[in-house]
Amino acid sequence: MSAHAPSSALVENYHDRTASERHLPQHIVFWDETLRDGEQMPGVHFSTREKMQIAELLSDMGVSVINAGIPVVSAEEAKTVSAVAHAGFKAKILAAGRTVMGDVEAVIQSGASHIAIFVAASNVHLQYKLRMTQDEVVAASVACVRRAHEAGLHVAFVTEDTVRAPLDFVERLYLAATEAGADRLVVSDTVGIMTPLTFRWFLREFHRRVKPKDWSVHCHNDLGLAVANTLTALEEGVNAPHTCVNGLGERAGNTSFEELVMDLETLYGVRTGIRTERLYELSQLVEGLAGVPLPPNKALVGYNSFAHEAGIHSHGVLRHTLTYEPLQPEVIGRHRLFVLGKHTGRAALIEKLKERHVSATDEQVTQLLERVKREGEGEGKQDVNELVRTYRAHFVNPGIKDAEFWELVKASGIPVPDAPFTNSSPPSGAKTVDPSPHKGARS
Ligand code: MN
Repeated sequence: MSAHAPSSALVENYHDRTASERHLPQHIVFWDETLRDGEQMPGVHFSTREKMQIAELLSDMGVSVINAGIPVVSAEEAKTVSAVAHAGFKAKILAAGRTVMGDVEAVIQSGASHIAIFVAASNVHLQYKLRMTQDEVVAASVACVRRAHEAGLHVAFVTEDTVRAPLDFVERLYLAATEAGADRLVVSDTVGIMTPLTFRWFLREFHRRVKPKDWSVHCHNDLGLAVANTLTALEEGVNAPHTCVNGLGERAGNTSFEELVMDLETLYGVRTGIRTERLYELSQLVEGLAGVPLPPNKALVGYNSFAHEAGIHSHGVLRHTLTYEPLQPEVIGRHRLFVLGKHTGRAALIEKLKERHVSATDEQVTQLLERVKREGEGEGKQDVNELVRTYRAHFVNPGIKDAEFWELVKASGIPVPDAPFTNSSPPSGAKTVDPSPHKGARS
């Protein structure tokens, strides 16, 4: 049993009862996507220096594979990927590209030892986005995988939207990629529509048909299930999960690195090899560099994750932390916090007084408690309201501001009328579906 697991005579650990149903891999290869999918989050961009800083910490903490980016995105990005690839980090540096030969050549040029070659698999992507037939997708994939393999790269073959693609095509495509030299196969839930039970079924079917030796999942959090689905995948033997620090990524983001690591360590007693005591430092670094503030109630790394205000909770934690904490905050490099306010109780107050070696009579504590509660109830909210307003104003229009964009248009010599313009949603021309989420998910 791991030192992190809350196992003692004081609590029952029913995870032991399900151990035989888990088929965790012998070795988990953590494949971090913070610098690629995380950076694709609207409004987020990392400089070369920032990517180096994040990659260095990820590598020091024991992450096995770091996706540094897509070299064909820009000349600057190609330089950044190359810098990360040549920095001598312990982690393997991966760069990504489409099933386009120029993309593959750019990755080879970058000096990355690993490549992820991606193409879409579902009919909606093939028909509306790629405008390619299944035969064309197979041919492009095979050619690009073969080229990268022959160049000596470790090749991961990725399909977008795997879990909404016809299984017969998925089987054919992945078998062809394997035959062409792919070392690792990546299954993606690109729009985050799997549930643990359905994903389990899908992965078993994939395994039965394709028999991968080394496989990954790439999960999105659109419906809040990315971590749960990734955990399910590991239980099915998937060995190289994709994660992003703080759950960054397109739209609602990807599987959160810190959550997945601590789920494994805390709940299943798995030794991940990740230096968990630096998880909070990593989270704070990425929060700052990405410019994406964490919600206070974010699992593990949110400000409130180890904070207690309610009297009953504080009292319990002061007597034994197992009462209201699933793990010790120090395990991820944090400390617990007792917050004073409307819900404070006597025990937390007495503990607080000890900070300055102050002792008080019962009567004094009762009086002080009344004052603290009144102060908590009467506390102004202007500061926090202002913070929320500023936050919304920023995130409602991240990235290049509208006015800046139209200036860039004019600077490019394109005539722009001065009339007011409006954003249309959905974009004109895009096909859409019945707004019922049930029907949408099926289409
Ligand atoms: Mn993604």
